[in-house]
Amino acid sequence: MPVTTDELLELHGRIRACTACPLHATRTQAVPGYGPVTARIMAVGEAPGETEDREGKPFVGAAGRLLTRLLEEVGLDRRDIYITNTLKCRPPGNRDPEQSEVEACSHFLDEQVAMLRPDVILVLGRHALGRLLPGAGTITRLHGQRVRRGTRVYVPLYHPAAALYNASLLETLQQDMRLVRGYLDAAEAERAAVLKAQAQQAISAEPPADQMALF
Ligand code: SF4
Repeated sequence: MPVTTDELLELHGRIRACTACPLHATRTQAVPGYGPVTARIMAVGEAPGETEDREGKPFVGAAGRLLTRLLEEVGLDRRDIYITNTLKCRPPGNRDPEQSEVEACSHFLDEQVAMLRPDVILVLGRHALGRLLPGAGTITRLHGQRVRRGTRVYVPLYHPAAALYNASLLETLQQDMRLVRGYLDAAEAERAAVLKAQAQQAISAEPPADQMALF
């Protein structure tokens, strides 16, 4: 059953009220995630930065603006994408997340993925990669590739923040985003084919009209 906006907002409320790890004491506010429940793409970064912590929304700083631009370059609208982080509260001074913090927070991301069931999950940077695809390999080796785990499709990408001042990394990210567009198109075609097959099955399961008259 598709999730409702109210169910997603209820989860966001629980994240905002969470005090399960020490980061709650230093945050301005938690940053649950942003985007519609109908999103076919989910993007997962590392943790909120200073601007995100202040505004309560993910990817609203310089890296966020670059992400928006990269998506637009392949015809994707950021407003159609659900964006979140592995960790929902900002580590002080933007330090790396600690393992205990990631573990305390991980069930929220699991709930978000289970609720939205996106066609493609963009894994932004090495921290998100370690959390979502542990042991799969490095971001240098996996970037731009489609990685299947069960029914989920993940695409590791360099974090946009890393490409802000690195022209060659930016070019790689642009190339990878074009691949993402192709993966998404393929996933949509797959979903349409499944729906069509289900509709045909339902029609063929219906009794012929003359049999229906007997009921
Ligand atoms: S980082 Fe996650 S586990 Fe820690 S307080 Fe924030 S929401 Fe709770």
